[in-house]
Amino acid sequence: PAEPELEALQHADVARLLPVPAAESDKYRRGVVGIAAGSARYPGAAVLAVAGALRGGAGAVRYVGPAGQAVIARFPETLVSDRGPEHAGRVQAWVVGPGAGDDAATVAEVLAADVPVLIDADGLRLAEPSAVRARRAPTLMTPHAGEAAALLGVERNEVENGRLSAVRELAARYGAAVLLKGSTTLVADAGGGPVRVNPTGTSWLATAGSGDVLSGLAGSLLAAGLSAVDAGSAAAYLHGLAGRFAADGAPVGAHDVAERIAAAWRDVVRG
Ligand code: AMP
Ligand code: MG
Repeated sequence: PAEPELEALQHADVARLLPVPAAESDKYRRGVVGIAAGSARYPGAAVLAVAGALRGGAGAVRYVGPAGQAVIARFPETLVSDRGPEHAGRVQAWVVGPGAGDDAATVAEVLAADVPVLIDADGLRLAEPSAVRARRAPTLMTPHAGEAAALLGVERNEVENGRLSAVRELAARYGAAVLLKGSTTLVADAGGGPVRVNPTGTSWLATAGSGDVLSGLAGSLLAAGLSAVDAGSAAAYLHGLAGRFAADGAPVGAHDVAERIAAAWRDVVRG
């Protein structure tokens, strides 16, 4: 029989993906995730990406960029530095782009690192396509429809009306796993195969900063050792569920969603 084009993500599949620290684990073995995000203009994007990353299973979150004071004020467990990613020390995965403004140099530095990288938001606009394609370690790109349209050089409507072909086309062009955000999030792997569909979202997630939380969460899962397509899938599933738990029929802010990721995680592992 022909391979299915789509695959719905389910509780049990996601449960199997989530990392559990071994009894003898330590924070370095659990993975360190680097967050290169935020700017003087958008410090909140850094805070929200870190908020997602802290709930994603890495052993430590390292933040590099100009919003370190805002990050540390909210999350004292974060390691912060205002020097570039090259000086950050060892990380197992990077998240680059949320609220990054026009800092193309940081994006280029992160793309040159030989560890998994998640590219979101401004990072998608600033990344050199050739630098993405040249990467040997896994890459996960997380555009919404507008960002996907800009990458493909088409109108946003075209992406909205052909989401499946858009996500596949991006994955093929960039040789990267691609998570296309929206009312149903789609996740395509770099090498083709069935596209995963996330069923857990809620339209209350259409709120500023919500995508920044997702990027941190997925980056943390990458640092914990998941493949790009699995990290994106598990993050979309948990983020959608956390959004439902947080909203429960009422409006929420992105930070509320981050605070319910642990509840979503528990719900998934308890089946
Ligand atoms: P961003 O556009 O980067 O802020 O990301 C928005 C987040 O909210 C993504 O995780 C989207 O999948 C999610 N989202 C946005 N609109 C909807 C919607 N109508 N239904 C469900 N999830 C949504
Ligand atoms: Mg965004």
